[in-house]
Amino acid sequence: MSANAFKRLMEASKKIGDNSPSPKRIKNNWAKEGSSKDITKKHYWKSGLSQAIMDVENIVASSDTVVIIKDKYPKAKFHYLVIPKVEQLNSARELTRSHINLLKEMQEKAKGLVKDRHPETKFKIGFHAKPSMDHLHLHVVSTDFVSTCLKTKKHWNSFNTEHFLDLPELISKLEENGNLVCYYPTDKDIELYLKKALKCNQCSLEAKTMPNLKQHLNAHAQSSSKM
Ligand code: AMP
Ligand code: ZN
Repeated sequence: MSANAFKRLMEASKKIGDNSPSPKRIKNNWAKEGSSKDITKKHYWKSGLSQAIMDVENIVASSDTVVIIKDKYPKAKFHYLVIPKVEQLNSARELTRSHINLLKEMQEKAKGLVKDRHPETKFKIGFHAKPSMDHLHLHVVSTDFVSTCLKTKKHWNSFNTEHFLDLPELISKLEENGNLVCYYPTDKDIELYLKKALKCNQCSLEAKTMPNLKQHLNAHAQSSSKM
């Protein structure tokens, strides 16, 4: 082989080598996606609410069957979670007619808390169609959405699109059909809801960015506090 041909062959093999993953890269990818340490960490994080309700310091109110805690990363001025004491379900998707009594008790506790503590404030009460945390939890959130923890489009749209399943509607669907199979959004629907434009929940404004929307929500809150 001539010296030039040898040089071309070496350059070609270097290029192939650049594109293929090195043994080190393959090892790191495995560590990222599949290691048992990683799965355990994720599981631990997802079970945070089951742990939170065990700490009496977190409990705002409780009954025989449910506990109310403050959301640790509130997405509005007031944000609570109503959680059944016994973990039966992880998502509203699994609800059936047999859970109607439990849901009615959760609703009653949520309304009672709002009436006692925040009689002048408007709230939304419902579930996220695709929750990030395990252990069924009902969001009770004030509609100002003024909070430093509200940061992303996903945060906003998770509470202000069809991704948020209002509790009274959900209960009537269960009473009518016995389950939520025909009513529940698909994963594809949910993906689209979370990417929707940023529409204000109090007027017709469509904000371009989250900072713009947050500034606008602040203005709404200030003007309503002056009324
Ligand atoms: P979801 O997206 O419906 O699963 O919402 C889970 C909620 O739990 C979010 O609003 C979080 O801010 C909240 N959260 C996460 N960890 C904790 C915790 N340890 N204690 C209380 N609330 C939490
Ligand atoms: Zn507005």
